[in-house]
Amino acid sequence: MQRIVGKQNVIHEPHRLHVFSCDGYVAKQAMPRAVVYPGDTEEVAAVVRWLHQHKIPFLPRGAGTGLSGGAIPLNGEVIISLVKMKKLLSVDFDNLRAVVQPGLVNLTLTKKIMGDGYYYAPDPSSQSVCTIGGNLAENAGGSHCLKYGVTTNHIVAAKFVLPDGEVLDVGSPFGDPIGYDILGLIVGSEGTLGIATEITVRILKKPQAVKTALAMFDRVEDASNTVSAIIGAGIIPAAIEMMDQLAMQAVDKSNYHVGYPTDIEAVLLIEVDGLAAGLEEDAARIVDICEQNHVRTVKVAEDDAERALWWSSRKMAFGAIGRVSPDYIVQDGVIPRTRLTEVLQRITEISRESGLAIANVFHAGDGNLHPLICYDSRIPGETEKAIRVGSEVLQVCVDVGGTITGEHGVGIEKIEDMRYQFRDVDLRAQVAIRDAFNPLDLCNSGKLIPTPGRCAEVKNAKWTIASNAKVFERLEEQAAVTRPHSVGDGHHLPATEPRSGSGDGF
Ligand SMILES: Cc1cc2nc3c(=O)[nH]c(=O)nc-3n(C[C@H](O)[C@H](O)[C@H](O)COP(=O)(O)OP(=O)(O)OC[C@H]3O[C@@H](n4cnc5c(N)ncnc54)[C@H](O)[C@@H]3O)c2cc1C
Repeated sequence: MQRIVGKQNVIHEPHRLHVFSCDGYVAKQAMPRAVVYPGDTEEVAAVVRWLHQHKIPFLPRGAGTGLSGGAIPLNGEVIISLVKMKKLLSVDFDNLRAVVQPGLVNLTLTKKIMGDGYYYAPDPSSQSVCTIGGNLAENAGGSHCLKYGVTTNHIVAAKFVLPDGEVLDVGSPFGDPIGYDILGLIVGSEGTLGIATEITVRILKKPQAVKTALAMFDRVEDASNTVSAIIGAGIIPAAIEMMDQLAMQAVDKSNYHVGYPTDIEAVLLIEVDGLAAGLEEDAARIVDICEQNHVRTVKVAEDDAERALWWSSRKMAFGAIGRVSPDYIVQDGVIPRTRLTEVLQRITEISRESGLAIANVFHAGDGNLHPLICYDSRIPGETEKAIRVGSEVLQVCVDVGGTITGEHGVGIEKIEDMRYQFRDVDLRAQVAIRDAFNPLDLCNSGKLIPTPGRCAEVKNAKWTIASNAKVFERLEEQAAVTRPHSVGDGHHLPATEPRSGSGDGF
């Protein structure tokens, strides 16, 4: 490994590996076997080929801000960190394209091209730190994705290293590629199909003007009705974000104090952008709609500073919850917008029944909820309770016709919730796709897809989700004597080498 990437680009000392034992989902942790920092596609391919040859499990990692545990090394993986691959390789303003390495931070791309009047649209709240490779893998969304679409709408081509080290070119910088939509499969595949090493994205010309309104409501129901009424009136805002009282309290205790009244139930941040002509009119119609829906106060930002403060308070809201709770899980589910009121009521009931506070901060325009489940991991059993509450909330989302994730992926957090959303036959189809790309299941094993019922028995006994590296090692020892090379259901088992944990060979 060191021969491929250089000694300074391999970490294997246990005290330095600890920081990689989890990502933004902290409810589970496991130690990686090593961390490797390749510098370009060729190095990624060579590293992967070596790992594949030695049957060592591995996973790609960007900034580690993922909230569903996709970058947690459950099987003692070698982590392939892409953060040193952070170049903007080329920009083509005339054709609105940029080619980036996967470790380029989302906001850095915009910063590099904004002087020329351009930007990259998908804007996760973590955009100042998360990488475009991680965004591709999670099909990340963001506040402005209501009008502009999520990551999949902004990626047109990629270089992709398969789990055996072969390099594919997927998608097409211009026009639709012929045949199966492989790029569509890769976006959102959570690092289970391979590693994106060069990504061609769409860039956009900055809108001429922006108007932002902040609307405060006594009742959540009125705020929810306003969201549907604005869209029903034919206006597609760039963003409609909602926060409830607990979230408002948290951000007001942070560095982004807005001064939200303590007796309102919901605040909406509504933004329209585009050509300057007509925007004043849109903003006035939005204010009108808020008033028809019993808003207490509604105000259009007077200047950029006020607008920036409102946005900071929204974008920093997840982190600010740390001011009101020692631990929290950021859930992520989607519902039809029109069911917002009843689903928020049901979440309040779940909070009351469980005794765990739940704050809500979310992309209301997309129906993409983020209940923040507050708990205290120092209290025995409370982490497990918070995880159970998360599942209950997701079941409510599915029951009203929604899904178990809007933008944060499945990872390990929601792997069992996939069974609530999908039938066995659906899961088998997904397993078949993964096996076509990743037949040895070496690349980010145990994420995204639960084992369908039919194969579960066999797989559980041999090679499946080990809850942590230690468990995996035990399984390895037990299996060493009896492991076959494949099983009857067609899923090949990797003949992994015994692991020393010392980092030898790296
Ligand atoms: C405060 C906060 C706010 C957030 N807000 C949002 C939001 O508004 N919208 C949103 O969508 N998400 C949000 N997130 C979640 C997270 O930032 C996104 O999921 C982001 O896309 C993860 O990027 P990353 O670089 O941190 O990836 P990581 O966490 O490092 O990895 C995420 C997954 O992608 C895989 N992966 C990483 N790089 C590659 C690659 N090059 N090729 C293949 N697979 C790869 C990993 O194996 C893992 O499964 C938020 C997170 C935080 C902490």
